[in-house]
Amino acid sequence: MLYTNWEELEQACLSCQKCALADTRHNVVFGTGPRDAEVMCIGEGPGENEDLQGLPFVGRGGKLLDDMLEMVDLSRERNVYIANMVKCRPPQNRDPLNTEQEACIDYLRSQTALLRPKIIICLGRIAACKLIKEDFKITKEHGQWFEKNGVWMTALFHPAAILRDPRRRPETFEDLKVIQAKIREICNHTY
Ligand code: SF4
Repeated sequence: MLYTNWEELEQACLSCQKCALADTRHNVVFGTGPRDAEVMCIGEGPGENEDLQGLPFVGRGGKLLDDMLEMVDLSRERNVYIANMVKCRPPQNRDPLNTEQEACIDYLRSQTALLRPKIIICLGRIAACKLIKEDFKITKEHGQWFEKNGVWMTALFHPAAILRDPRRRPETFEDLKVIQAKIREICNHTY
């Protein structure tokens, strides 16, 4: 079911029991950021810190994401909406199962329909495979653009992957500059 206003959507999501992740979560991680943002970042699902705080991308990975965004004048307080494909933490940070993704995806679809972003940035391979194309190769195709239904989509390495392998930082910085140029080209009020 798709929701047509933010309040109903958030209430439904916060009390959701549609998949087994409801049994082990501490908090539903709905998403954060201005609800008129033209740029949306989407990760795969909450980790431990996110589950405990109820916020997406906190802890070390979240700090790195905030730093990356700040390099190109983006922030969750001002001009980026940040959400995940699944809203509850998979135990031991395993990848979300297909059944969990399917159970949860309408919340993200509703968020996207309400936000109507011009640019979607997938954070990591799993989000890119689900949202851009099934066989997305993050090592080869990060930073490339794909247009779907009038929305420009791209993917960055997941911040946790960059923390594990700092050699990915220079490529990610190049990708961010490309994103900045695209924002300047097609967004009206992000900058
Ligand atoms: S992961 Fe999504 S579908 Fe599953 S319980 Fe949480 S909000 Fe509901």
